[in-house]
Amino acid sequence: MRRAIYPGSFDPVTNGHMDIIERASKIFDEVVVAVAVNISKSPMFLIEDRLFMLQEASKNLPNVRVDSFDGLLVRYAEEQGASAIVKGLRALSDFEFEFEMALMNRRLDTDIETVFMMTSVEYSYLSSSMIKEVSSFGGSVEGLVPEIVLDYLSQKASSTRRIMQKRRQKKE
Ligand code: ADP
Repeated sequence: MRRAIYPGSFDPVTNGHMDIIERASKIFDEVVVAVAVNISKSPMFLIEDRLFMLQEASKNLPNVRVDSFDGLLVRYAEEQGASAIVKGLRALSDFEFEFEMALMNRRLDTDIETVFMMTSVEYSYLSSSMIKEVSSFGGSVEGLVPEIVLDYLSQKASSTRRIMQKRRQKKE
């Protein structure tokens, strides 16, 4: 049984992430998509929402499981009985950090291999932060994120609009 962990913040999941998940699910017997709970970035979506969006988006992939983790990634990978950590590489800018991280993780556990997968060209510029920025200014991100994420983003946009409206009314 070859199990791999695909870690990230997935705030929210994009089609770039889904592309890596699908491709990894063809190589490994099981892929555990692991949402990091304790990240320094302040996330837009609650951990429960990020997990739900991922579950919905990957429901047609039988060997993909969604989970969350806290603390050291290699410890989590060991607990899960995983032999690999999957990482996606978009541009050269991803490389340096991921390279250092992979070396550190190997130092921590020599049995766990980091496997890098190149992005598909159509998603090479795609990141969760780009999605959040474009959608917060009312731009369309259709085709770049799973359907369920579009629903969550439009919900966020309408609640932000309501708050702004209330603030304006208070000022008047
Ligand atoms: P982001 O950088 O979009 O905020 P995460 O921290 O959730 O995303 O990233 C999780 C993993 O997915 C990382 O290995 C990252 O390099 C990879 N990844 C993110 N977006 C893409 C993409 N468009 N193509 C390939 N890999 C990606």
